[in-house]
Amino acid sequence: MDTAMLIGAAFEAGTETEEKVLNPKTGAEILALPEASPAQVEAAIQAASTAFTSWARTTPGERSAYLLKIADAIEKDAEGFAALESLNCGKPINAVLNDEMPAIVDCWRFFAGAVRNMHSAVAGEYMAGHTSMIRRDPIGVVASIAPWNYPLMMMAWKLAPAIAGGNTVVFKPSEQTPLTALKMAKLLADILPEGVVNVILGRGESVGNALINHPRIDMISITGDVATGKKVLQAASRTVKRTHLELGGKAPVIVFDDADLDEVVNGLRAFSFYNAGQDCTAACRVYANDRIYDRLVADLSSAASSLVFNDPDDTKNEIGPLISGRQRDRVASFVQRASEVDHIEITTGGKASGAGGFFYEPTVVAGARQDDEIVRREVFGPVVSVTRFSDTEDAIAWANDSDYGLASSVWTKDVGKAMTVASRLQYGCTWVNTHFMLVSEMPHGGLKHSGYGKDLSAYALEDYTAVRHVMIKHG
Ligand code: NAD
Repeated sequence: MDTAMLIGAAFEAGTETEEKVLNPKTGAEILALPEASPAQVEAAIQAASTAFTSWARTTPGERSAYLLKIADAIEKDAEGFAALESLNCGKPINAVLNDEMPAIVDCWRFFAGAVRNMHSAVAGEYMAGHTSMIRRDPIGVVASIAPWNYPLMMMAWKLAPAIAGGNTVVFKPSEQTPLTALKMAKLLADILPEGVVNVILGRGESVGNALINHPRIDMISITGDVATGKKVLQAASRTVKRTHLELGGKAPVIVFDDADLDEVVNGLRAFSFYNAGQDCTAACRVYANDRIYDRLVADLSSAASSLVFNDPDDTKNEIGPLISGRQRDRVASFVQRASEVDHIEITTGGKASGAGGFFYEPTVVAGARQDDEIVRREVFGPVVSVTRFSDTEDAIAWANDSDYGLASSVWTKDVGKAMTVASRLQYGCTWVNTHFMLVSEMPHGGLKHSGYGKDLSAYALEDYTAVRHVMIKHG
């Protein structure tokens, strides 16, 4: 197992406090890793800063070739990466190997192609005798800070557009899930020039904080909690850094009475509970028309209770545990408080499960109302609330009545209704008759407290580059 950080060309262990890395399936310690010292953070930033001068001058074609090599190397070792990700996050091995690894490889390949197709406005004479052109140039050194829910995928989403765009990076994984980032550090060091990507370890309040406040960091890209995003904005304001924030979500799912209910239930079984609901786009806030409400609650509850988890044969598991005991207890406390509300019924689940491990049963909270905590706050666990509506205007208003604005879905056979509702939802993405589907070509990112800036797609390349005007006098 790779345990060293990557600083420039050097592999080093941190020299500060050790952070335990746990196996969420058992609660047992896998290993403990020391975090980077202030001097090591400084050295990583210096290495990225030094590498920037030459990396920024490489052609898109050259950078594309590096990204394709990275994609091929990950694909070649997909089983090794998947096994490590599964160990560190508790994800079922099949979910990582069959769903996440192909998407990760595709992300690297997409940006390898996209950077060669990055276009700007045409050049022209907007003042007589002067030709103007628009350039898209790299920004500089990016501090990339990742969460624990999809460690390797978030690393791909952050690194691929950043380095494709000609930036260099200091990457910090979540202190809870550093293992695949360290394996990636090894792979990246074999392929990329020294210092283009540096990987350092540590907690948010120490190493993360040092990164976001450092004067030589030009951009901060973070996926994490809204509260962390606010801290990043405060730090960025002191040195006027560019920021890219992917924060939480509380995705509304509007189900009309003409929807294909079997498809809705099959869909929610997958899209609400994938990764044990630790997903900022999880279909966790259902609004069901009152004509189909009872059947939806009954069928969804039975579908949720059929999800396989904590089977000793991991290939049978459909969902895994939560990332930590703390996260499991947080989820449990949301459900406990919801269960004390008179009009709410927990129709399935509602209990922690699995000795030692951090499992929580897939849970359906029926009868929830718009003002209930379970409808308003992000739970980030395998918990779905169902709220009854009769008026379409109410459903749209309630769906939009949220601090978050990342993802949403509408389920109906009426195309006109779907288009009308989709046009009125204030979310970075609205799916119709599906949910959760991401492709590398399309942008992912939020509105409101979910943050701003896009991951994936050509829009991410725009975010990681600066628009510049060059004017030539020739008249
Ligand atoms: P978190 O905010 O606690 O941590 C995210 C990362 O930020 C970690 O690497 C952490 O060490 C670092 N960090 C924490 N405090 C910091 C500070 N003061 N300065 C610098 N860095 C700091 O979030 P988490 O618990 O790891 O992840 C779960 C959250 O992420 C959820 O709220 C979820 O909705 C959100 N999320 C959002 C998206 C998205 O695309 N919008 C995707 C995945 C997760």
